[in-house]
Amino acid sequence: MDLLEYQGKQLFARHGLRVSSGKPVTTVDDAVAAADEVGYPVVVKAQVLIGGRGKAGGVKLAANESEAREHASNILGMDIKGHIVRTVWIEHASDIASEYYASVLLDRSAKQPLVMFSTEGGVDIEEVAEKTPEKLIRHHVDALTGLSHGEAVEIATKGGADSDVIDGVADALVALYEVWLQEDATLAEINPLIVTPDREVKALDSKVSLDGNALYRHPENQGLSDSENEDPIERRAKEEGVQYVKLDGDIGILGNGAGLVMSTLDVVAQAGGSPANFLDAGGGSNAEKIKQAVDLLLANDAVKAVLFNIFGGITRCDEVATGLIAAFAEIKPSVPFVVRLDGTNDVEGRRLLAEAALPNVHAAKTMNEAAEMVVALAAGQSVGAAA
Ligand code: GDP
Ligand code: MN
Repeated sequence: MDLLEYQGKQLFARHGLRVSSGKPVTTVDDAVAAADEVGYPVVVKAQVLIGGRGKAGGVKLAANESEAREHASNILGMDIKGHIVRTVWIEHASDIASEYYASVLLDRSAKQPLVMFSTEGGVDIEEVAEKTPEKLIRHHVDALTGLSHGEAVEIATKGGADSDVIDGVADALVALYEVWLQEDATLAEINPLIVTPDREVKALDSKVSLDGNALYRHPENQGLSDSENEDPIERRAKEEGVQYVKLDGDIGILGNGAGLVMSTLDVVAQAGGSPANFLDAGGGSNAEKIKQAVDLLLANDAVKAVLFNIFGGITRCDEVATGLIAAFAEIKPSVPFVVRLDGTNDVEGRRLLAEAALPNVHAAKTMNEAAEMVVALAAGQSVGAAA
């Protein structure tokens, strides 16, 4: 679960990281009132779950009330890479001497927490990592002992932080590690971590993702889910208790069981396709469950074809076929479907499908065959007779 900048900063503050105080607002008048309250100059910042807001014109300094009004009215409603700005955060502007970068995440291949630090913050950190990797310090932390202040001092020193702020940077790194650990975050990032002219070290931005599966341990964070800015289809899926993830491609993927769904994504990618989303139907085989799943998949306009991959175990393929036929009679999908039925009662399932002769529904026997068919269909090619 990704947090908005100001929500991340609130978590930061709880763990002793320095941030500017400010206010989230949703109207121009409230923005001006907030600016008057925090004191000029202020910075007006779009709150959307996407980076690069500054470059897109979503972060503006205002020296007085009329500038605050102008920026707030420009930024509220702005479309930043498909994210509409509904909230702006108004904070007292900081003076900046240096812009650093800091983050903590789990390095899955090393199976250890990873702290990263650079004095080349503010700009695209990806570019720093790519072009001058020596300027991005990467330090693995022993998860059992955590990040000590001494270790953090070493990181800051190695990264070339100004000598008079090494201690302040180390404090910030330790606090960021605490945020990551104690809040069950998957990512805690500050870019830029600034040094002010009076040598204060402060988080000017935040990027925090919390582990949704650990949210039950943090009742105080449960209200942070940004349902207004969340993808509407993902929100619907969550409400309906369905595992649904949106991706960028044009092939909808539906399977029963997380493992099967994951390998379906791989096989489709190998066949040259690009998944638009995936949905785990779990053990659901009745028409209602299937209809709900198909409705969700097709709610995404980018979907040009759907692969329905079922491996029958306890779930029987003939039941799935019956559910599918009933669901399709109602939905009448506008895009082609490839249905792969394998496992318990698969022959019967495919026979039922063939008998029903649903328009736009193609049966496949193997996963590879199904993947190739769906990739061709998404590209607008024909694949022979329908099931
Ligand atoms: P991002 O573009 O989404 O990463 O948004 P940031 O919060 O990182 O802001 C982008 C840039 O705006 C920063 O790198 C700063 O250079 C600038 N900026 C943001 N807040 C302030 C501020 O309080 N004072 C000054 N002088 N610049 C700021
Ligand atoms: Mn930033």
